[in-house]
Amino acid sequence: MALAPNSAKPSFTPLSAKPLVIVLIGPGGVGKGTIVRALLAADERLWLSRSWTTRAIRPSEVGDEYVFVTRDQFEAAIGRDLFLEWASFNDNLYGTPRPTVDETRDLLLEIEVQGAQQVRSHDPDAIVILLLPPSLEELETRLRGRGDSDDHVQRRLRLSREEIAAGRDLADFIVTNHEVTGAADEILSILESLRHSRRTGL
Ligand code: 5GP
Repeated sequence: MALAPNSAKPSFTPLSAKPLVIVLIGPGGVGKGTIVRALLAADERLWLSRSWTTRAIRPSEVGDEYVFVTRDQFEAAIGRDLFLEWASFNDNLYGTPRPTVDETRDLLLEIEVQGAQQVRSHDPDAIVILLLPPSLEELETRLRGRGDSDDHVQRRLRLSREEIAAGRDLADFIVTNHEVTGAADEILSILESLRHSRRTGL
């Protein structure tokens, strides 16, 4: 039996009219990586862009966290205009390769604030979410828990204050990471509400 045009209703939740670009920012040690993993596990409509970096791989990393490259390789990629955004952070370069367009999924970027400013200036519709620690004391405890030297921790804390101040100016939403599930759920409901409003215009 032939179906009349438009008589079949989709049995899935329709996607947003235009894929979202979601930029998650926040100071080092706030738990962005853990939150990103929780978001990806909970929401198959999201995909994470893998960044390039010149920093050395950490002992705790397996090698697929970034595309790890030399400074020469990174600079050559800048010369070829391969990055959507890039920034120097803590003496290393980090960059998001220009995404291959996936019209079916929303793009998630986990980057620092200078990069987020660049993304926003190219794409005013990009959504910036700032993840905050419950307090600076808590952030310090988390940074110390990584086993870094005191100098390194103090330097990261200074950077964190700057990152938070600039992030507050840029962010559309601010989420506090008291614990992973609560913060991830809050972000997932922000995404649902954005998708709904893009679909309906409401
Ligand atoms: P880490 O070295 O701790 O992995 O990352 C340091 C900072 O660089 C974090 O704030 C992280 O979000 C940010 N970052 C990671 N990838 C990118 C990127 O592609 N572009 C920019 N601008 N920042 C990035």
